[in-house]
Amino acid sequence: MSRVMLRNVTRRYGDVLAVDDLSLEVRDGEFLVLVGPSGCGKTTVLRLIAGLEEPTSGEIYIGDRLVNKLRPWERDVSMVFPGPDFALYSHMSVYDNMAFGPRVRRKLPPVEGLQQAHHTPAGDMVGTDLQFSEGALRRRLEQAAARLGLDRYLNRRPPELSAGHRQTVALERAMVRQPQVFLMDDPLSNLDAHLRVTARMELKKQHRQSGITTIYVTHDQTEAMTLGERVAVMKDGVLQQIGTPQALYRYPANTFVAGFIGSPPMNMFTVDVEAHEHETFLRGSGFRVRMPLHIARRLSGWEGRQIILGLRPDAIRHAQYAPDADPLTLVEGLVELREYTGSEVLLHLRVGDDTLIARVDSRTWAWPGQTCTVAFDMENMHAFDPRSERSLL
Ligand code: ATP
Repeated sequence: MSRVMLRNVTRRYGDVLAVDDLSLEVRDGEFLVLVGPSGCGKTTVLRLIAGLEEPTSGEIYIGDRLVNKLRPWERDVSMVFPGPDFALYSHMSVYDNMAFGPRVRRKLPPVEGLQQAHHTPAGDMVGTDLQFSEGALRRRLEQAAARLGLDRYLNRRPPELSAGHRQTVALERAMVRQPQVFLMDDPLSNLDAHLRVTARMELKKQHRQSGITTIYVTHDQTEAMTLGERVAVMKDGVLQQIGTPQALYRYPANTFVAGFIGSPPMNMFTVDVEAHEHETFLRGSGFRVRMPLHIARRLSGWEGRQIILGLRPDAIRHAQYAPDADPLTLVEGLVELREYTGSEVLLHLRVGDDTLIARVDSRTWAWPGQTCTVAFDMENMHAFDPRSERSLL
């Protein structure tokens, strides 16, 4: 069992509460992504699990072991650090960097820097591991290097590589081990767009093959959504929501998650809930739209009050391509910006005091300065309490 469990973990730095009472279970073999804006505490969580930081309070388990008192190399985790140097050994060749961990574990001495292994918070923290013969190790590393386009660079030292290649070496160095847990701190951030996609696929493939529990930190929600089996969203040291990418996208627990997950982000409007005869309407600064009955029922008690209405850009269609739309959900706006991506058009509209982004059919003929009618797909609306910012649906 190599699940990772954090129980009420807090980490303070003086007045700064970097991690605030975090409880989290990463299942055995799971690929969990921790995502959130800069400074939300993601890296601190990873460093706490690796043993590079001590919690101010709370308990951390790896497998069934309470590891609070264990030092990094006793925890059997492998960590990939962020750039620019990725904690690579700059005096060793790329090949020796990648071979370092398995060699240390075989206790073969010819690698320079062996004594540093216990002091360097690198991907070669000692633990139980597969034992490679030198020949098997060479074959494995050469295959990996060829796959990742590193074969020409095996004899170079890390400072002679581009940042992207250094990052790939760091990833491969961690992956050549078979630890109980991988910890990855934004490992793809320095790669160019093409290499990023390749490395993402490689990571997924490796994870499927190895089944090793992985905790991956990123500030990029697209990366989180594409890589994570589950995604944990953090803000100001506090876990906001954890779930599958689909669950976070469809059922965000609060306005923060709703705005953070999904690109372009969800549109949000402060609206009055108005009951009129047997129907319920939402009135914004420049629109009034009808709510489906079954949603209105779930919001009963909010009539005469304000809520936050959330609509994803794909829940706002150009009226011309939405012939089935309820006429009482049509909204007129002024086109401020038009972004053409090939498969779709993003229209930025001003409606009263609000602006919104609609992802509309790529044939849409609407240009800045023109008015345009869109249909709000109220079946896919979200509603939030303006005070607590929690979801009401
Ligand atoms: P980023 O995406 O920018 O790396 P992050 O989400 O990983 O950010 P952390 O690096 O975990 O955030 O930092 C969380 C908070 O703790 C920040 O306010 C940061 O300034 C603070 N912090 C982190 N390490 C220390 C430290 N050693 N001393 C003081 N404050 C720290």
